[in-house]
Amino acid sequence: MLQLVWFKRDLRVHDHAPLAAAAAAGRVVPVYVHEPEMRATDDHDGRHTDFIGESLRELRAELSARGAPLLELHGALPELFDALCAQLPITAIHAHEETGNAASYARDRRVRAWAKQRGVAMHEVAASGVVRRLATRDGWHERWVARMRAPLVAAPDRLHGLTADERASIPARLVSQANLDTTTPTGHTALLPHRQPGGRDAALALLQSFLNERGHDYRRAMSSPVDAESACSRLSAHLTWGTLSTREVYQAARRRARELRDALAARDPRTDRAPLVRWQQSLVSFASRLEWRDHFVQKLESEPALEDRPYSPVYDNVWPEAPDAERLAAWRDGRTGYPLVDACMRSLQATGWLTFRMRAMVMSFASHYLWLHWRPAGLVLARAFTDYEPGIHWMQCQMQAGTTGINTIRIYNPVKQAEEHDPRGDFVRRWVPELAPLPTADLLRPWATPALVQQMHGVHIGRDYPAPIVAHEAAYARARDTLHALKREAQQRGDASRVWRRHGSRRTPLGAPSR
Ligand SMILES: Cc1cc2nc3c(=O)[nH]c(=O)nc-3n(C[C@H](O)[C@H](O)[C@H](O)COP(=O)(O)OP(=O)(O)OC[C@H]3O[C@@H](n4cnc5c(N)ncnc54)[C@H](O)[C@@H]3O)c2cc1C
Repeated sequence: MLQLVWFKRDLRVHDHAPLAAAAAAGRVVPVYVHEPEMRATDDHDGRHTDFIGESLRELRAELSARGAPLLELHGALPELFDALCAQLPITAIHAHEETGNAASYARDRRVRAWAKQRGVAMHEVAASGVVRRLATRDGWHERWVARMRAPLVAAPDRLHGLTADERASIPARLVSQANLDTTTPTGHTALLPHRQPGGRDAALALLQSFLNERGHDYRRAMSSPVDAESACSRLSAHLTWGTLSTREVYQAARRRARELRDALAARDPRTDRAPLVRWQQSLVSFASRLEWRDHFVQKLESEPALEDRPYSPVYDNVWPEAPDAERLAAWRDGRTGYPLVDACMRSLQATGWLTFRMRAMVMSFASHYLWLHWRPAGLVLARAFTDYEPGIHWMQCQMQAGTTGINTIRIYNPVKQAEEHDPRGDFVRRWVPELAPLPTADLLRPWATPALVQQMHGVHIGRDYPAPIVAHEAAYARARDTLHALKREAQQRGDASRVWRRHGSRRTPLGAPSR
């Protein structure tokens, strides 16, 4: 009897409960399915495929070394599983629960219904701290901590896989395309020389360097587009595609925190304790973000409609559903005339990553200043982020756009953000090189640069770099008035308290700025 292990967004063998359970139950067939349906969704991009491809390369090696090579299928589910079951004596499927987009949600329901009808047992276990069929948010934090502190699941040393005859019996039409899919580059890699690579080795190297070297100034540096690139963990894409589990990361951070505590206790009180204290504070901030991760994904798990519908109907018709195509393209390509926004969007398109504060600012700029609906703007970002995680992403897009009714409305001023987080203009100069010759004061407000200064430096606003696409003061005032009025309406209708009861962090009382 065979146990099928369905790898999805959990591309590792370590701390992988479905693999361990399958190995304990009998012979194992590890499967990854390349699904054209998932690649055709409007939130998918080749950078996701490439990151997955790199991660699969290592997963294949890990599984082969243990005696059960990865079987890569290509096609639609559940039809593929049905065809496989016709050839192989599969009695059970083991997988992690996935909180994905509408397409993966519907596919999982189809697979479950098929398994029930076919008499194949379906064993799904939690992938992290997200709780399926959660009745109440009360006690969620305590549950999360307990899950994160539970022992890691050891990778099986040895797996008993398919026999040669069984492998040979699998129809070529189910598998042949899979090899093509992962060895043929999509072309995005060449276009994205700065994208971080996938694979567990890269993930472990990032984890180690963050906890032991790069993370000491994390709390201070995380909002700076210049410093965050190395001061942040950069683990998000690995957590999204599962080359590491959240629990592994949480436990490694805890071990490091204990080391620092011991080092502080042993330190001569007359010496400078500040660097160690700074390290500790950074790790506290980091651990809380790991919890935020599941906190946000939990919202989508509990209310899948939030992927494309606002929390309250009062936000239904605020933005035109069909966005202004010119504005959307100018924002996507970094041509808005606001240097920090443009630098962020260009850097994002080239690297696949932005730090949190800059993500919040570009989203706020799209919804508040350009008055673009959060869904099409969010799709541009979803395709651009290598770490695209629907649960975090759509909740953050809505939160930054101001459609939750329970969060503080934040309308980021792009000039003030540049002054605070890129005061010397380093980031803008790197990504908007046509402005580089300008003095820093003009660089951050190029539209106000006197004609003579433009001439002296050979930079002509309106020719070499666009004039602002909108006047930011007027756009700010409209967004502020509209969103505050809508928030009051959502509160009067009782929507805000409903949202808080269902989704609010119990660590933040209603009325206070909430996550
Ligand atoms: C509009 C918008 C969209 C976003 N979309 C995504 C997305 O698709 N995928 C994604 O992983 N993150 C998303 N984030 C959250 C956050 O910006 C990224 O997780 C973070 O920048 C990733 O870099 P890092 O791994 O170095 O994070 P670190 O700062 O090192 O944090 C460690 C981990 O904690 C989690 N985390 C950090 N910040 C947040 C947060 N604010 N909310 C939830 N989890 C968090 C991530 O898993 C991250 O890898 C979004 C934020 C905004 C404002």
